[in-house]
This record gives sequence, structure tokens and C-alpha cells, in this order.
Amino acid sequence: MKQEYIINACSGKCIDVIAGQKITVIDIEGGQVVDFFAENSANQNEFLSPGVTIDCNESLRLHVGNYIYSNLYHAMFQILYDEVGEHDLLHPCCRPEMYHFFYHNGKDHPNCLENINHSLGEERPMIHPINLFMYSKIYEDGTISVKRPLSKAGSKIVLKAEMNLRLGIAACSVSESDCNSGKCTPIKIMIED
Ligand SMILES: [Zn+2]
Repeated sequence: MKQEYIINACSGKCIDVIAGQKITVIDIEGGQVVDFFAENSANQNEFLSPGVTIDCNESLRLHVGNYIYSNLYHAMFQILYDEVGEHDLLHPCCRPEMYHFFYHNGKDHPNCLENINHSLGEERPMIHPINLFMYSKIYEDGTISVKRPLSKAGSKIVLKAEMNLRLGIAACSVSESDCNSGKCTPIKIMIED
């Protein structure tokens, strides 16, 4: 069985997957960040944690073969294939307050926190996703700089679900910086057994 979903620019979607299914995330036009969040289908208090993922993998980077972990230190996904190799584990979902802080335009700005919360039917006060394709360059002195994603049109990453999951996925809404190459574009998700 194969299902395909398009997530329009600046929007989000909830997708249910079962353990063992493969999730392919495709950057349709290139240079677009995907805010990728998930929770245990049976327990919304178990959710994806970039912090735990950094802890378990002892790395700020994700590599093929690595697992992505939940707040309860259980494997949620394994990375099966990756054409890009640069993904961000540091930044929380963009939100109105972030747009206000940097750009003074937070009012009514589409944002990943609300897009993921609305798609899941939740009101999490903060969501810390894996930012697929986001390129946060980390310098030796600890400073970071968000660069254009390295993903090209059609670039993809493939994950395997390690448990039954509800995915909350958003095509990031930042057009003000290099984060999404200066414009917001759609993404495609494929789910396969
Ligand atoms: Zn965003």
C-alpha cells in the first residue's frame, strides 16, 4: 500500500503511520525546510525529542542508520536513506513570537507551531521538531548561522517508523531569511508498507 500527501507551502498535516512503514519526505522544489514532529499513537505524552536524539546518538548530525528518539528514550524512527545530510536538531518550530522577535511581523504570520498543533488537534505550548533539510551551520566558537538548505528539487530522506505514530508535519513558513531559500514551497510525503 502506498499513500501520497502534498503539504502546501506554509501549512501542515497529520498523518498516521504504523510500525514498519516507510516515510519518504520529498522537497518538491528544493531549498525547503520540513518541520517533522511525531507522537506515539497510544500516548501523546510520548513525542519526538531532538534533545534525546542528540544524547543517544552523541551527535548534532543525523546519519543513515541512526535512530530518532522520543522523550522517553525509545526509538521512533530509523533513517534508511538520505540525499541531503544536513538537518537541524536545534531550533524549535517557528511561532508568532519568533517572527515578532526577528522581523516584527508575528501577527497573523503562518507558522509551524500552529500548523502542527492544528493538524494534530492539540495545543502544545512548544514543539521542538526535527527540521529536515534545514542547514544550521555550527562554528567552532559555538555560533550558528542558518544557510540555504542543500536540498535540490526532488531531494528526499526516508525514515522507518519504529512504533505506531501520529506525524505532525509542516512546510516551514519562514520567507524572511535563507532558512527556506527566501520563499516557501510545498513538500510531498509518501507512506509505504
Ligand atoms: Zn517554521
